[in-house]
Amino acid sequence: MATGTVGAPAEFQRVLVTGGAGFLGSHLCRRLVAEGHEVICLDNFFTSQRINIADLLDKPNFELVRHDVTEPFHAEVDQIYNLACPASPVHYQYNPIKTMKTSFMGSMNLLGLAKRTKSRILQASTSEVYGDPNVSPQPEEYWGHVNPNGVRSCYDEGKRAAETLFFDYYRQNNVDIRVLRIFNTFGPGMHPYDGRVVSNFIMQALQGRDITIYGDGSQTRSFCFVDDLIEGMVRFMNQEETVGPVNLGNPCEFTIKELAELVVELTGSTSKIIYMPLPNDDPKQRRPDITKAKKYLQNWEPQVQLRDGLQKTIEYFKNLDMRRYKDPTK
Ligand code: NAD
Ligand code: UDP
Repeated sequence: MATGTVGAPAEFQRVLVTGGAGFLGSHLCRRLVAEGHEVICLDNFFTSQRINIADLLDKPNFELVRHDVTEPFHAEVDQIYNLACPASPVHYQYNPIKTMKTSFMGSMNLLGLAKRTKSRILQASTSEVYGDPNVSPQPEEYWGHVNPNGVRSCYDEGKRAAETLFFDYYRQNNVDIRVLRIFNTFGPGMHPYDGRVVSNFIMQALQGRDITIYGDGSQTRSFCFVDDLIEGMVRFMNQEETVGPVNLGNPCEFTIKELAELVVELTGSTSKIIYMPLPNDDPKQRRPDITKAKKYLQNWEPQVQLRDGLQKTIEYFKNLDMRRYKDPTK
């Protein structure tokens, strides 16, 4: 019997995690392996490396497969978590056509697998489906404000197309889908060359480099600690209803300037804050409405405050062996 999770399945499951070597995927694999499930971790290692999951490689219920989700994959599984996709703007804009292919073709291949094996499939969708929102906080009913042909579109529209496919496989083929809209998440396990704001600021602060705020720093994000996110994700997979997309994130909203100042304070860094041009289509505000998550996920809500999560993340980055990591865009 699997134990330890609120609403955990009664039996051990054969679980496929695509993007399983990445930031969220490695935490998810660790959690599922610890619960006793048979985990297949599939990854093409675009934005990750084996070191992320090194502690799992000798576990008898863990299997690592190097594979690209744009190609069909065959296995007998009970559950599929589809996380494969670069998530940092720097990474997903490096090869935007591949990003779109990963979201769309990856989803199509995995939905086909879910249909054949009658497995349940969860899509890691994103707050980016709301684009640069003119509603805040963003509830699931909001259709979004997305540029269809800008530099972020490969990701935003790729994920929106993936959602369409998920709901069409549900309506047309009765595939047992779960679509989770994940908001900015951070924590140990992030790639040092990830390029997203939390890892950038911490690395810059620890190395005494200038801290690069894009724009005037008044844009907001709501940062969720990885443990809270994974808890919600596993609960969502294991609740029995298909309930439309569900937001998952921390509703505490901060400006990017506040984040920079907090990182400077917590690291005790002498780095100075500098201002650089705001990238195109950078959303001005982002904050999840988590009413639906609370309702369907046994009162799930984030437990970890930004300050505490940052402290853990700073410790992780301090102890990182940088020789093990390479910049995916170089
Ligand atoms: P990440 O870049 O650390 O992990 C993504 C993983 O997918 C990497 O291991 C990468 O090598 C792999 N991958 C990429 N393209 C692939 C392909 N074609 N075939 C196989 N593997 C491939 O990113 P993350 O933060 O762990 O994000 C995981 C998922 O969650 C992504 O789908 C992302 O869109 C979604 N998400 C994350 C956040 C967040 O804040 N972390 C927010 C919203 C959505
Ligand atoms: N950002 C920043 N400096 C950086 C990296 C990012 O000011 O070094 C800003 C970015 O412009 C955005 C916010 O931080 O407004 C969050 O960026 P991130 O890349 O983490 O993710 P996004 O939420 O935009 O996908």
